[in-house]
Amino acid sequence: MAESAHKKSYNLEGRTLLIPRMSDEGPDAFAAAFRSIGIKAATVLPSNERSIKLGGRYTSGDECYPEQITLGDFLRAIEEMGHDKVAFFMPTANGPCRFGQYAYFLKKVLRDMGHESIPVVSPTSSDGYDGLGKHTSDLMRTAWRGLVIADIIRKLRLHYRPYEIKRGETDRTSDECLQSFCSILERMDLSHAERLKLLVDEMSGTRARYQDIARNNEHRPLVGVVGEIFCRLSNFSNEDLIRKIEHHGGECWLSDVGEWVWYTNQQQRMRIIHAGKRFSATMLKAKIKSVIQRHDEHRLLKPILPLIKGREEPEDIGEILDRSHPYLPYRGALGEMVLSTGKAIWLYEKGASGIADISPFTCMNGIVCEAVYPRVSGDHHGIPIRVFYFDGTQKTIDQDVGIFMQLVRNFERKRAGAGF
Ligand code: SF4
Repeated sequence: MAESAHKKSYNLEGRTLLIPRMSDEGPDAFAAAFRSIGIKAATVLPSNERSIKLGGRYTSGDECYPEQITLGDFLRAIEEMGHDKVAFFMPTANGPCRFGQYAYFLKKVLRDMGHESIPVVSPTSSDGYDGLGKHTSDLMRTAWRGLVIADIIRKLRLHYRPYEIKRGETDRTSDECLQSFCSILERMDLSHAERLKLLVDEMSGTRARYQDIARNNEHRPLVGVVGEIFCRLSNFSNEDLIRKIEHHGGECWLSDVGEWVWYTNQQQRMRIIHAGKRFSATMLKAKIKSVIQRHDEHRLLKPILPLIKGREEPEDIGEILDRSHPYLPYRGALGEMVLSTGKAIWLYEKGASGIADISPFTCMNGIVCEAVYPRVSGDHHGIPIRVFYFDGTQKTIDQDVGIFMQLVRNFERKRAGAGF
């Protein structure tokens, strides 16, 4: 029943809905959530040089780097799977960020290529992604659980990998655990309660698997990683910056995807208030959604909490927004620049000795953040904050990371000495 509803809305008959590869974890879980409502879905293949080449063929350089990569990955999928076998998932958003143009641009390119029959499934953040159709609530609940699980696996990966004794063990464990979760997320025969119980049980098994990873007790400075959501999560886009920081002796705490969902929820509530509907069914629905999401998140996190002690995310997105307020008031400045600035300060308070902001070249979020970071740093004992820009042409990343990590180590020493 679910399948036919979506096929009618988006004409997905005989096609695989392809999800952009924003990270190594989330898209697989998201694709599994689509399968749970009967839609054949998968993540695009890992990006490669062909992706860049194909994306570059239809972009002029004015577009952001994630646009070039996601477009290139989709065009590669047409080459490899055939135009009549694919459909593309590309959400959209309102506001000045160029992300709002991705889906339109993708449709234009497909039209220019004569592939206008390829469906582009494109929900929007302005309604909290509520516009996916008849089975939205089932899909979004399972997708949210998948997103939380993906964030947890990524956090464990980054917390364990720098200290592993057997090289590759953490990545292998992470990938295997993720696939076990996906096999539960994709099942069509489960109620929400049954699925959550299985996922929570699986989380206990995951805890045991990570506890089995042998680690050394080497000391590493903590580096907070913030920035544009696609580029900071896509290792291909950011040239494996996190692994490079680990190679130079750091441990990374990367801002997760859940943070963006909490932010869009908060923005949705603000829009409802501005529309004069503070006490309305729309507001009630938005609040209930947040309560359910928090409930699921707590259940999934509980078994794993002992492993991520000291690496817990804020309980309320207001903790991030309040910290950004003196620099970028969140009622005026919108989007990732607010989250990156607030999170940088929050991570400093949690013990980070340096902040790396990952941004696509020319992204206004990175540019605005770079303008306020000197003040943020000055107000927080001079913590090193460095924006790393990416557009696929960087040649000196390893050297830049080496210099940055030297500053991080110096700051950590200063901090230990002064006790702040
Ligand atoms: S945040 Fe920056 S890079 Fe990302 S879509 Fe918006 S403008 Fe482009």
